[in-house]
Amino acid sequence: MANAAKNDKPKQLPAPNSDFYQLADTLNAEEHEVLNQVRVFMEAKVAPIINKYWVEDAFPFELIPAIKELGVGGVGMQGYGCRGGSALLFGLIAMEMARVDASVATFFGVHNGLAMGSIYATGSEEQKKKWLPPMARFEKIGCFGLTEPLVGSGASGGLTTTAKHEGDTWIVNGQKKWIGNSPWCDLSIIWARDVADNQVKAFIVENKTTPGFSVEKIQGKFGLKVVQNGLITLKDVRLPEENHLQAGQSFRDTARVLKMTRYLVAWEATGCQMGAYEHALKYAQERLQFGKPIASFQLIQDLLAKMIANITACQCLIVRMAQLQAEGKMNDAHAALAKAFTTARTRETVAWAREVFGGNGLAAEYNVARFFCDAEALYSYEGTYQMQNLILGKAITGLSAFI
Ligand SMILES: Cc1cc2nc3c(=O)[nH]c(=O)nc-3n(C[C@H](O)[C@H](O)[C@H](O)COP(=O)(O)OP(=O)(O)OC[C@H]3O[C@@H](n4cnc5c(N)ncnc54)[C@H](O)[C@@H]3O)c2cc1C
Repeated sequence: MANAAKNDKPKQLPAPNSDFYQLADTLNAEEHEVLNQVRVFMEAKVAPIINKYWVEDAFPFELIPAIKELGVGGVGMQGYGCRGGSALLFGLIAMEMARVDASVATFFGVHNGLAMGSIYATGSEEQKKKWLPPMARFEKIGCFGLTEPLVGSGASGGLTTTAKHEGDTWIVNGQKKWIGNSPWCDLSIIWARDVADNQVKAFIVENKTTPGFSVEKIQGKFGLKVVQNGLITLKDVRLPEENHLQAGQSFRDTARVLKMTRYLVAWEATGCQMGAYEHALKYAQERLQFGKPIASFQLIQDLLAKMIANITACQCLIVRMAQLQAEGKMNDAHAALAKAFTTARTRETVAWAREVFGGNGLAAEYNVARFFCDAEALYSYEGTYQMQNLILGKAITGLSAFI
């Protein structure tokens, strides 16, 4: 009898944990502390409200004060009021954010990585001193305008947005499509082709006060719905020389920024998989069919095993990439491989997670649909899978397949 009573006790199942190879054990005290703060913020403030915003296609402005308080603005950048810290820390924060919501991670990546990163990499001392401190405090939010309605993958050689230098003024004309944060943010980094030398240059445009600058929100997006993307139109926009980022002289400078942000997307993609997996495992432990938790079925365990294997492979890859970056060895091809590999694995992982939920996997309230849809955007933005593999292909073969 005593034995039977013991056996009737519900079995204590392990809590979902997406850090299977215990990478957290390799982090230092500062990294642990910051990650813990980000985790608390994401779980306490973002998780309870994010599905509502996702369904409504809206940005949660109510989170901005708490994001400011986190004090992570300018992580990975030294000086100019920035948070500082390593590229590893930057990646870990993005991963931790994406574990709860890829849109919040993308908002952060666009502002901190693409917009601040462009100024940090290609601005003069004066420009960095002027723009970076308020951006690090999230008082001014930025976006990054490279893609155009007719030019995406071919941006390196084909930008149609033009900049014409007349005296001390630049006149910029063109359109930028898909630009994250642009419908509401304060400033845009606009990449345009200088008609004098045909080189791509970057300009800071203040969205709310610059005549000739307008933004139309892109409607009906099915991934990263919380991030607001816009179609920017620049019509005879006049900018002083001080708004031309001084150290950016060609697309090579754009590529320097993109290298770091592709690095970041690999972390976001890994975080997105972690979140989807944890939701799926918890659901599988609780959901009963045929009188048993579905997690006890062999075919469901196969899905879960493949998910955690993908996640673990991606985590190990990006941590090594962060080491390469710290050693000054990370190149465009390293970042391209990581972006392509992790986002491809993400598509698999979120699809398997959705499968575990059966029909509920299609309902917003179960979260996994959000991860499933957001993964599609990670796969395509900041350079598609094909573009990353062409960068990698060139590096490993010594032959360029770019047209
Ligand atoms: C949600 C979201 C957010 C975004 N945010 C921003 C942002 O903030 N700022 C910004 O500037 N851009 C942003 N983008 C744009 C994004 O970077 C582009 O969508 C992406 O680079 C691809 O460009 P495209 O959409 O024009 O596709 P295209 O370049 O038209 O490509 C279409 C298809 O053709 C393939 N292809 C193209 N050329 C080749 C080739 N030579 N060989 C093989 N295959 C090829 C591509 O891989 C792709 O599969 C965002 C996009 C999305 C969806």
